[in-house]
Amino acid sequence: MEGKLIIFSAPSGAGKTTIVKRLLERYGDKIAFSISASTRQPRGEEIDGKDYYFISKEEFLHRIAKKEFVEFEEVYSGTFYGTLRSEIERIWASGKSVIFDIDVIGGLHLKRKFGENALAIFVQPPSMGALIERLRGRGTDSEEKLQERINKADKELGFAEHFDIILNNDDLEEACEQASRLLLDFIN
Ligand code: ADP
Ligand code: 5GP
Repeated sequence: MEGKLIIFSAPSGAGKTTIVKRLLERYGDKIAFSISASTRQPRGEEIDGKDYYFISKEEFLHRIAKKEFVEFEEVYSGTFYGTLRSEIERIWASGKSVIFDIDVIGGLHLKRKFGENALAIFVQPPSMGALIERLRGRGTDSEEKLQERINKADKELGFAEHFDIILNNDDLEEACEQASRLLLDFIN
């Protein structure tokens, strides 16, 4: 069974996780989150099997070999993230659409793969300065990890035009309202 996919991509710190969580709270009867596999360590309150499937690098490589991923990427040096085909199938089988929180390159891969069945949304921060402030404010990354995310963000901002829609996330409430409208228009 084929269903729909709603992809939220952006540089780290733009606010996609916050927006996706809000949408899940509001429309959990219509959408479900694609839980990615990742080789990074859980941070803060994250729960294995809810935020990510936290797996070892060895297991990740094994799953690549078994072709279990629809897309995967070494998002940060030495740290892999990927979307499992079984996640998408599980969610479609429950009659829901799949919602993704995924990096920019991964988002474009999914869009290319699923075409008209996918809506690819780029979450745009008001400025690079605001993005850095949000990343620092989140307080979840070491200074080294922060620098890596900032360097990557600079390149990723240039991909906005390749997405179906650019969603400005300046005022969070407005961004969530717009995201809700886009979602409902697409899945209904
Ligand atoms: P991402 O998932 O894109 O890395 P997050 O959703 O984790 O980003 O958001 C990064 C930080 O910015 C979080 O601390 C979040 O609360 C905050 N944030 C998100 N959207 C806004 C906004 N519109 N204005 C101010 N802060 C925001
Ligand atoms: P974080 O470590 O902050 O949770 O995520 C780092 C980046 O990896 C974010 O941009 C996040 O959206 C992205 N990401 C999460 N899951 C996946 C995935 O399955 N595939 C890809 N390509 N990126 C992902």
